[in-house]
Amino acid sequence: MNQILSTSRAILAESDPAIAKLLQAEAHRLADGLELIASENVASPAVLAALSSVLSNKYAEGYPGKRYYGGCECVDEVETLAIERAMQLYGADHVNVQPHSGAQANQAVFLSCLKPGDAILGMNLSHGGHLTHGSPVNMSGLVYKADFYGVRESDGRLDYDEVRRVAHATKPRLIIAGASAYPRVIDFAAFREIANEVGALLLVDMAHIAGLVAAGVHPSPIPFADFVTTTTHKTLRGPRGGIIMCRAEYAKAIDKAVFPGTQGGPLMHVIGAKAVAFGEALTPEFKTYAEMVVANAKTLAAHLSERGIKIVSGGTDNHLMLIDLRESPLSGKDAEERLGRIGLTVNKNTVPGETRKPMVTSGIRIGTPAITTRGLKPTDMKELAESIYCALQESEGQMEHAKGLVTRLCQKYPLYDGVFASAGYSVPRV
Ligand SMILES: *Cc1c(COP(=O)(O)O)cnc(C)c1O
Repeated sequence: MNQILSTSRAILAESDPAIAKLLQAEAHRLADGLELIASENVASPAVLAALSSVLSNKYAEGYPGKRYYGGCECVDEVETLAIERAMQLYGADHVNVQPHSGAQANQAVFLSCLKPGDAILGMNLSHGGHLTHGSPVNMSGLVYKADFYGVRESDGRLDYDEVRRVAHATKPRLIIAGASAYPRVIDFAAFREIANEVGALLLVDMAHIAGLVAAGVHPSPIPFADFVTTTTHKTLRGPRGGIIMCRAEYAKAIDKAVFPGTQGGPLMHVIGAKAVAFGEALTPEFKTYAEMVVANAKTLAAHLSERGIKIVSGGTDNHLMLIDLRESPLSGKDAEERLGRIGLTVNKNTVPGETRKPMVTSGIRIGTPAITTRGLKPTDMKELAESIYCALQESEGQMEHAKGLVTRLCQKYPLYDGVFASAGYSVPRV
């Protein structure tokens, strides 16, 4: 394994030094700072190995046993394993592992059950929803008639009364639950009840929480939803990609909507890597990781609150939190830049009751999946909170101190030797 990676690195360095140098720089960037972007993670060497494999060469339009190309014996088995493992992981009737991304998974669900102009209901983007849930700049908002629900300004929590009210007023054909920046448990039973009242189908997009759901740390949407989409690269810690799960009655329509509806040939190397990631997610170690992701997030939010930093909804139930900077002279953009300077990668984010512009914002989204994979524990969160607190003060002296804290945490948990070694591999820096 080690040898294969080393060999491929050497080949790249020889044939394309420019790209090889950039890979090296990116590896250093990751190792020398802490990744707090809530949608990112560190995939295992096994996942990366499947990604950079011969499977990338294969055309396999169609599905296992029904392909439009010869030579699919091996990739048929790869895709079948990916499907079986995903079914075991989530208990769905049917799984399609071919969507290239979360956005394409959602697009295929829409194509399978909606006609242009149909009404859909999703979560407001500025309240934590996703672009693909009806935003006017996305295909979902251009082709379908989208309405939105949001969170209460008073406590930052989903307002199920508003979901019900808007659903009854707009009679959507499809209701979408799921978010990119919501720190609390989502009540899928409540969404199902509302969907039933208005005769709507229910799509749950669990992109952010899929790893937590797999480990039983967040309730599963599978018993309640007609369709469940997810990305595979966030808390689930696999390759970049998407999957769709659905009730048996929609299986044919979903498969048709993915291919030939919205995609051509599946990315077989990514499907191979998805199979590897699902296999990893079925292990007891993955459950421990997912529990630790949540423990780290809760502890970090508590330490930040103690220091007087405002957290939307007062804390978190999952892997992420939103810092509320509406009363701060620093905007989300300023805070993202300051945290970047001390080696913490985050993203600015709108908060409920946002007062600044979308490219400026009054919030910072912080997630714990990647630092948990790296090995950080709840006992490290006090130091991390201190570094964030200091960086958000308007003094340069505090910045030095904050940078020192981050560097110490990076050295305590070396990325490649640590993560890759704990996965059973000894892999030198890329
Ligand atoms: C990340 C995300 C997606 C999109 O995933 P891509 O793979 O980037 O297309 C879709 N829905 C939600 C809720 C997400 O958070």
